[in-house]
Amino acid sequence: MDFAYDDQNIFAKILRGEIPNKTVYEDDYALAFHDIAPQAPVHVLVIPKGPFMSLDHFTRDASDAEITGYMRAISKTCEMIGVEDGFRAIANARAQGGQEVPHLHVHLLAGRPMGPMLAP
Ligand code: 5GP
Repeated sequence: MDFAYDDQNIFAKILRGEIPNKTVYEDDYALAFHDIAPQAPVHVLVIPKGPFMSLDHFTRDASDAEITGYMRAISKTCEMIGVEDGFRAIANARAQGGQEVPHLHVHLLAGRPMGPMLAP
């Protein structure tokens, strides 16, 4: 599959500091910030710093250090937001996955029961 990354996507602009964000956690590999339109009491997006469109792109082409760093950043973000009562992690990909922004992001949703995994 050809993953053609568009560096004009909104999360690329956030990573370059061209658009502000409410940062929860940041390190060399990842940035975590509050979603602009939260779907739960806590709704945070965790994105890798590299130019990856989706989870399958990232896990195919990212280096081992990038993959480990990103996963550890998700763990750090969970610590920051407090997920003792549980949470849901979602990574939408492309059209049928409902992805709007073509830069990999994991949604971390918490603060209420999440209900069924998928709408009927
Ligand atoms: P997707 O549908 O691609 O999985 O999710 C994209 C998410 O990005 C949506 O939940 C949307 O609310 C969020 N989003 C879109 N634009 C911005 C923005 O400029 N700032 C922030 N913080 N979130 C955004």
